[in-house]
Amino acid sequence: MYTDSPAQSIHSAIGGFQTDFGGVKRYRASVVQPVRSTLNVLDALAQARSQQLSVTIQGAGHSFRGQSLSSGGMQMRNYSKSADVTFLEDGLIEVSSRSSWRFVERSLNQAGRQSPVLTDYLDLSVGGTLSVGGMGLASITQGFQVDHVVKLKLIQPDGRVLWCSREENSELFRFALAGMGQVGFIDRVIMGTEPFRLLTHSLKRVHRNVGEMMTLIAELAAPGSGVEHFNGYIGGNEIASEYGYFSNSDTLDRSPLAPNLQKAMVMRSETDATFKIQDRRDSWMAEFPDHFQIWTDYIFTYENAVKFMAYLEPLMEQDPLNEALKAIYVLILRRPENAVPFAFLPAPPGDFLVSIGLYTMVNCWNPTLLAKTLPILKEALATCQAMEGRPYLYGFNEMDEAMKIKFYGSDYHRLQVLRQDHGLMGLNPESF
Ligand SMILES: Cc1cc2nc3c(=O)[nH]c(=O)nc-3n(C[C@H](O)[C@H](O)[C@H](O)COP(=O)(O)OP(=O)(O)OC[C@H]3O[C@@H](n4cnc5c(N)ncnc54)[C@H](O)[C@@H]3O)c2cc1C
Repeated sequence: MYTDSPAQSIHSAIGGFQTDFGGVKRYRASVVQPVRSTLNVLDALAQARSQQLSVTIQGAGHSFRGQSLSSGGMQMRNYSKSADVTFLEDGLIEVSSRSSWRFVERSLNQAGRQSPVLTDYLDLSVGGTLSVGGMGLASITQGFQVDHVVKLKLIQPDGRVLWCSREENSELFRFALAGMGQVGFIDRVIMGTEPFRLLTHSLKRVHRNVGEMMTLIAELAAPGSGVEHFNGYIGGNEIASEYGYFSNSDTLDRSPLAPNLQKAMVMRSETDATFKIQDRRDSWMAEFPDHFQIWTDYIFTYENAVKFMAYLEPLMEQDPLNEALKAIYVLILRRPENAVPFAFLPAPPGDFLVSIGLYTMVNCWNPTLLAKTLPILKEALATCQAMEGRPYLYGFNEMDEAMKIKFYGSDYHRLQVLRQDHGLMGLNPESF
């Protein structure tokens, strides 16, 4: 089974430096401190205070721009290949942030429940995906993972423990989720689940061009389309959309889908789809050994996503993206009507949005290609800003202060005040 990026295994061995899944950034922490319980976390924070060290929280370390790395401070490693799940009433669960989603989902399925939305890669920590948002194939109806969090336990660097929800410490709740660990350590969360459905039925349409895919996206996202999962991609000499619904019947019946969406080839009906999606992703990734992963996703309204695709199309044919960009991955996002306006989630509540993910990969031994690719991604980020989109913060986005202020406005200023007031300046300094 694939766990670490090849770049990670190459670089983690060099001179005590650590790297993340992306492999581009390398920092050396003074202390690497694994934590396995709330008590461990409190002890580690006390140690950091006594040694005057900054603290960076790392989950599974699958960030791309060094967000989970520490330069000279303490790196607190909060990931376990297991799940600590307690079943509560009304389909709610309480889960520790260090749990791995793979094991959380297994425990839920065994108990007849499932997560409303999962990332399409499961060897990630609960705290890590909730610190970025957590989107996936089911985001077309279920929004982000953070939309299903009811309450969370936050630990601040001075050892204060606070429960946060819409009602209690509501401002910290809004800044903690999808907040890159800027206002505290997420220790435990209470989240909603839904009844388990055994099968995922999928249809596929291959498109002649990107425009055709974008037209279909509007139809898939229309209310009443019947579509419960979607992903689109441009790569491997194909432009395609995969979509469908979940059920307990093993017969693929097209009638739940709107008539215009029933015309598509049958792709598969499978059990355990969430785990198989990761297996397929792993085999694809294995085709690019020794590569830096420079991924990033930008999120737009539908109209601006169409414009951003038009901007990307010619770039995809040109040097350096014709070599470095291995795929574009597209998701549709519809958040609940009453969604919390999380400060840094790139998807304000409202109409449906489209996420456009650039999977750029550069061979570690090709520094020239890396040097040519990074400026293009910087330009893409500036174009995202000009087109009123927002970047998804797990990715490789190099933002200066002016850019952050332009993207996040008053929320960015408020974060500085919160960090000052709550003694948070030394927490996750590299993350955002
Ligand atoms: C192969 C792959 C596929 C992916 N697919 C998807 C996808 O389908 N959908 C999607 O939404 N994302 C996807 N991602 C992105 C992924 O969700 C993020 O990178 C996520 O942050 C990874 O979780 P992690 O446990 O590795 O977090 P880390 O990389 O360890 O941490 C990420 C950030 O969160 C902070 N943090 C971590 N834990 C805590 C905590 N307990 N409290 C406070 N702050 C914390 C860290 O300091 C850091 O800033 C994918 C990433 C990879 C590598």
